[in-house]
Amino acid sequence: MQIDFPPFVKKILHTFERSGYQIYIVGGVVRDLMLNRKTNDWDFATDATPEQILRLFPDGFYNNQFGTVGITKEGEDKTNQNLSSTSYKPYEITTFRTEHGYSDKRRPDKVAWGKDLEEDLSRRDFTINAMALPASKKVIDPFCGQEDLKKKLIRAVGNPADRFSEDALRMMRAIRIAAELGFTIEDNTFQAIKMHSDSIKHVSWERIRDELFKILKSDFPDQGTMMLHAAGLLDYILPELVAGIGVGQKSPQRHHVFDVYTHCLNALKNCPSKDPLVRLATLLHDIGKVQTRKLTPKGIVTFYNHEIIGSRLVKEIADRLRLSKRQKDKLWVLVRWHQFSVDDQQTDSALRRFIKNVGVENLQDMLDLRVGDRLGGGVQETSWRLEKFKKRLEEVQHQPFSVKDLKVDGRDVMEILKIPSGPKVGEILQKLFEEVEEDQTKNEREYLLSRIKEIG
Ligand code: ATP
Ligand code: MG
Repeated sequence: MQIDFPPFVKKILHTFERSGYQIYIVGGVVRDLMLNRKTNDWDFATDATPEQILRLFPDGFYNNQFGTVGITKEGEDKTNQNLSSTSYKPYEITTFRTEHGYSDKRRPDKVAWGKDLEEDLSRRDFTINAMALPASKKVIDPFCGQEDLKKKLIRAVGNPADRFSEDALRMMRAIRIAAELGFTIEDNTFQAIKMHSDSIKHVSWERIRDELFKILKSDFPDQGTMMLHAAGLLDYILPELVAGIGVGQKSPQRHHVFDVYTHCLNALKNCPSKDPLVRLATLLHDIGKVQTRKLTPKGIVTFYNHEIIGSRLVKEIADRLRLSKRQKDKLWVLVRWHQFSVDDQQTDSALRRFIKNVGVENLQDMLDLRVGDRLGGGVQETSWRLEKFKKRLEEVQHQPFSVKDLKVDGRDVMEILKIPSGPKVGEILQKLFEEVEEDQTKNEREYLLSRIKEIG
């Protein structure tokens, strides 16, 4: 296998080996190296105890009770401008370990030092995550992870039912890793997830959210969501979305052929933004349709105010997923205002109102949601119409229309109405401005002079 270790990784491996310890690169990083994927967290397993590790790397920090020592590349990492504090992860070195008892289905009751590497690998979740690489690069693979990598399969290590009843988060991890890699979950493993799906309630919403966001950010977010549904997990995480199954949108001579749920998934699949929050908004944009669906006597399906109902529902979802206030507000904005028209009849003032509602900082994300919506079969419009709309949004922003742009000014008002300068002049100008903002063809001097007489 053609794998190149970065210099600091080589240094870690050699430092341990020189002192007579076993040392292996383990877990997801081995999987990523074999798939030629970028990896940013390096995990190692060793037979050295934390105290022995700290003797080799005195700057390391012993950061939890699980026997993990984190070390950083001296100087370089801490000053690297490209590493944001959130994406930054040190090199983590863990003493071989075994875990016993998971009475709360989340954390092992007891963590003990394992005797050897194999024991350490056997506690890991999936075969493709249970391989180890020593400095020699001769991969150690007791559970045939390489074979599953070739078959693109996520398979539990050992008895799947036991593994998911030990730790319910693994169900989300299986689906998340499948969505990231474009893999399938092996049959027995998937059946076991289905069997244990109820135990997801033992997992904190923060951890569910983190995995959900990774699914949304992945290359196959729609398939990941479908897997969550097939596994019986989506009913717990996003019941409002599941409620869209079978909610038909088809009217005679109308474009919608999908039910609300399928359309939402298609919109997610086609959303050009990679931001998981924007993708979540796209996935949820039409959930308000479930409650607002009405059938007219002529057989036309309508969903009046579904964006209002939907925006209320996403607030509840944001609280459930423990989103920050900023994330919650943005989710609300994107769902609340997604129902906008892009036809060329829109007045400049309508566009300005739209920008004000959505916020300049969210415009691109709103348009991305709309692209997903359109390509996902929701909106009957051509891409050139959306492009034209985008251009007009730009133009309107570059030419903010203000009272100063009126073809009349305060002097005209004072002269015509024979009044001195004062608040009354401003009020009249403001009235004219509102009229003209609605319809800029009215910005004609003659017309406005006559309006001053009328209003004043
Ligand atoms: P990524 O880093 O891409 O998110 P990963 O598989 O590397 O995915 P980490 O959280 O970095 O995930 O965990 C590193 C390794 O630890 C995993 O590859 C796996 O071997 C093991 N592991 C992590 N979480 C669990 C778990 N809940 N149960 C069993 N083993 C786990
Ligand atoms: Mg990892």
